Amino acid sequence: MKDIVPTPPSLVRNDVAAIQALFQKNVVPSYARYEIAFSHGTGSHLYDVTGKRYLDLGGGIAVCSLGHAHPAISEALSEQSRRLVHVSNLYYHELQGRLAQQIVRHLATGKVFFANSGAEANEGLYKLARKFGHDEGCFEILTALNSFHGRTLAGIAATGQDKVKKGFEPMVPGFRHIPFNDLPAACAALSPATAAILIEGVQGEGGVTPATPEYLLGLRALCDERKLLLLMDGVQCGHFRTGRFQSYQRLLEGVQSTAGSTFLPDGISMAKSLGGGFPIGAFWVRDPYADLLGAGSHGTTYGGTPLGCAVALKVLEVIEREGLADNARQLGAWLKSELEQLAAACPQVITGVRGLGLMIGIEFAPKEQIPALACGEKPAAAQIVNRLHEAGLLTIPSGNQVVRLLPALNLSRADAEDGLALLQRVVSGLA
Ligand SMILES: *Cc1c(COP(=O)(O)O)cnc(C)c1O
Repeated sequence: MKDIVPTPPSLVRNDVAAIQALFQKNVVPSYARYEIAFSHGTGSHLYDVTGKRYLDLGGGIAVCSLGHAHPAISEALSEQSRRLVHVSNLYYHELQGRLAQQIVRHLATGKVFFANSGAEANEGLYKLARKFGHDEGCFEILTALNSFHGRTLAGIAATGQDKVKKGFEPMVPGFRHIPFNDLPAACAALSPATAAILIEGVQGEGGVTPATPEYLLGLRALCDERKLLLLMDGVQCGHFRTGRFQSYQRLLEGVQSTAGSTFLPDGISMAKSLGGGFPIGAFWVRDPYADLLGAGSHGTTYGGTPLGCAVALKVLEVIEREGLADNARQLGAWLKSELEQLAAACPQVITGVRGLGLMIGIEFAPKEQIPALACGEKPAAAQIVNRLHEAGLLTIPSGNQVVRLLPALNLSRADAEDGLALLQRVVSGLA
């Protein structure tokens, strides 16, 4: 007799509390999560388990570059999974070579190593710097205050924020922090042991702060003169988010000197938008350093699998076919100018708007200065993100005062207008 398989009990259907209970009992509580449980999404919208719809301007923290449930990603995943999901890096496969070729094409002659996350991509850059300086006894990497480079042991040592280090001392040695956008401070901080300088083109977790063109060019000249590697963390600000493949390409657009058009870092890390939600990271290293990490010197089991590379190639293809770099640039410029007008109308609430393309930071006044927030326990950014959730809008806080927009690169004008209207409503409610 044929068994009739009963449908599984709907243990957690439409029940945030039951899902939270599962987490409380079984998931390491290292995140302070919002009280929202999502079930599915489409484009720039997400739906929670109660059926409430949210406009997603956080993009999974700059990850969902094509939005949610993009058919091209679903197809690439299912098609490639029927052919080949994984082979060891002991062997070749075409997709990894092709994805590396595409990344090189967007940068300059060099080579790519594939990893699984941003922190891991940065680890590769640290090892590159150590290898580079090894024979001269150089190992130290300078990074910026307020930077963020990931949560591994070396990542928290590299990150220029005390809150990620606290409780995990002693730190991995060989990292020191310098103030961002301060070239004299970088010169003064060099020691005979310095091997590299690592910065974000636009600091993300640090509050959406772009590097100045003078800083980028100055660091390049300094690194050339002192024979140091200039490394850039493009995990959040990369992959066309600013309107160009990497943020430095956008940041240096207005610079007329030849230094502006020939500027290149020596290594760049990537992740987040690269896989559009599929976990994949990478670092690019330019000639003549591309062969520094020789056979046996670095590796990772899952790096650059056929499945991950098929998806990342598809993401790149869609970005190019649909002109999403220009969309990020134009829609971002429009959003930013609208937000600047909102800031001008509510100067006691919004104190600044920063960013490039679809990486925008809205800086709020300290909560003590906003009567509606003064009694709340949490900092202004966290309270505003919560109010935006109630209004059906997802954004990402950055520190205590900044709320970030890191939406899908294919955000539509209509969705951007909706998001702006929700922001205006919540902000004017505070003014
Ligand atoms: C998110 C982020 C990382 C870490 O990436 P993970 O994938 O979380 O390891 C590193 N650098 C920057 C700039 C980031 O925004």
